[in-house]
Amino acid sequence: MEQLDRFLTRTRIAYFSMEMAVRPEMHTYAGGLGVLAGDTARSCAELQLPMVFVTLVSRAGYFKQRITADGQQLEEPDWWRPEGLCTPLDAMTGVRIGERNVWIRPWLHVLKGPEGGEVPIILLDTDLLENDPADRELTHWLYGGDDAYRLKQEIVLGLGGVRLLRALGFELDTYHLNEGHAALLTLELLRRGAGPRDQASGVGPVYDIGQVRGQCVFTTHTPVEAGHDRFPYELVSRLLDSPVPLGELRHLAGMDAFNLTQLAMRLSGYVNGVALRHAETTQHLFPGYVIRAITNGVHVGTWTHPVFAHLYQQHVPHWQHEPELLVRALLIPEDEIWRCHQLAKADLLRRIAERTGVALDPALPLIGCARRMTGYKRPLLLFQDLDRLAAIAAKHPFQVVMAGKAHPRDGLGKQAIRQLHEVARALAGRVACVFLPDYDMELAQAMVAGSDIWLNTPRPPLEASGTSGMKAALNGVLNLSVLDGWWVEACIEGVTGWAIGEDRHDEPDAVVARHLYDKLENTVLPLYHGDPEAWRRLMRQAAAHIGSHFNSQRMMRRYAAEAYLR
Ligand SMILES: *Cc1c(COP(=O)(O)O)cnc(C)c1O
Repeated sequence: MEQLDRFLTRTRIAYFSMEMAVRPEMHTYAGGLGVLAGDTARSCAELQLPMVFVTLVSRAGYFKQRITADGQQLEEPDWWRPEGLCTPLDAMTGVRIGERNVWIRPWLHVLKGPEGGEVPIILLDTDLLENDPADRELTHWLYGGDDAYRLKQEIVLGLGGVRLLRALGFELDTYHLNEGHAALLTLELLRRGAGPRDQASGVGPVYDIGQVRGQCVFTTHTPVEAGHDRFPYELVSRLLDSPVPLGELRHLAGMDAFNLTQLAMRLSGYVNGVALRHAETTQHLFPGYVIRAITNGVHVGTWTHPVFAHLYQQHVPHWQHEPELLVRALLIPEDEIWRCHQLAKADLLRRIAERTGVALDPALPLIGCARRMTGYKRPLLLFQDLDRLAAIAAKHPFQVVMAGKAHPRDGLGKQAIRQLHEVARALAGRVACVFLPDYDMELAQAMVAGSDIWLNTPRPPLEASGTSGMKAALNGVLNLSVLDGWWVEACIEGVTGWAIGEDRHDEPDAVVARHLYDKLENTVLPLYHGDPEAWRRLMRQAAAHIGSHFNSQRMMRRYAAEAYLR
């Protein structure tokens, strides 16, 4: 396979992720986790790290979101075709799932960096004539189906992925598990390293857990027990062709349920959370393990609006390879920052007008909030007290743009979307609020660059890291956020943005909403309307201080030095 030859000899590290935002036309991602995996790959290409990436082909995507007039989310398949963007590789491998053998074929997408570096991405596909019709859909629906479907996908990713890499000729030292979905790969490594059964005594095979721990790096992204994938052992014994007997598996993955996070922890020699605060929280969940912290970052070339990229290129020539240099953005004249911001904002307003028919006012501050619509993100916090919000707007006018998908089975998330549409109607004439459907990478790019204020209101400590605020800062957009995840590290009050309330975990939503209103009314909006010069200075500080640290080049250099080169 000559397409792979140039990668085979140098590649040492495999990165496994259920989802991955490679590029907008490839619908192989749902949200933040996939975008992080994509940014990881983009930085690896630029830094020429010797890595290969493995994910599912997800032909039907996550879903395409449409919203009815009354705010109901409708989900449609979001098909894409790997042909054209990927090359089929001439290799196949099989995994046993339940009663059947499932064949897997790989597609190759070569991701290229701007300076010639590249990394291979392998997309696993079971849509093959050789497979039973039901199994042909196993790699269609990202996060779709029931528990059994999810476990089957995880078997394809973990066991299938490791086997395919070997069939393709990769010789690897390190496996990086991006979230627990990839944990089953550890079982394939155990099988491979296992000693033979002792014929005389019938003992064995003996598994070399130490060896597998030496090979595996695990990054966890979920700060609560309930967020971890777990399956009943009845299902596991029915579907998983485990190299480890079920009794032993319970010792590795949990006595009561098969917990993928626990399995990954147990079999990885390096485990990390995605922000300092998240590592502390995880440490409490898993006493007895050493949990390190590598705070997430975003890929600066992907998330900086082209007009800002041009500006940085002029003033800080090597900013893309070495975003640490962005600290020198402090030397860029404020009015140039403002001019670029106005262009990015005009882009977003144009898009909003096209999609919704609403013409927002470029002179008024625009609050942007977009993320997965789910309970702990508290999408309705801004709207707890509509009269107070309207009174603030009467004094200091502002407008709001929102977006986000709710998982099809997250009833409360879908309800939040309906309620957001209701409050937007209730506020009509007082505060302009628009909701943009189908939040994806491209819409995110427009929103994080074109808003003035990026609002984030998760319920601490449930935001492991958060990354959209980092993207916003690269474009001089100011963060107004609850102290959780990455913002605990990045917030310097009044210098890089603002915190909502204190750093504590026990305040009721109504109290946090009051903090938010107070900050908007007394600090943020008066500054925008009353002191444009100070506002622009803050924009520049946010870009310099946040951009220079919370980027995926720094993140990957740390993974390379601390996790891969252990
Ligand atoms: C960055 C991004 C996310 C993650 O945003 P958070 O602030 O971490 O919730 C989700 N979806 C898309 C499309 C993104 O680009």
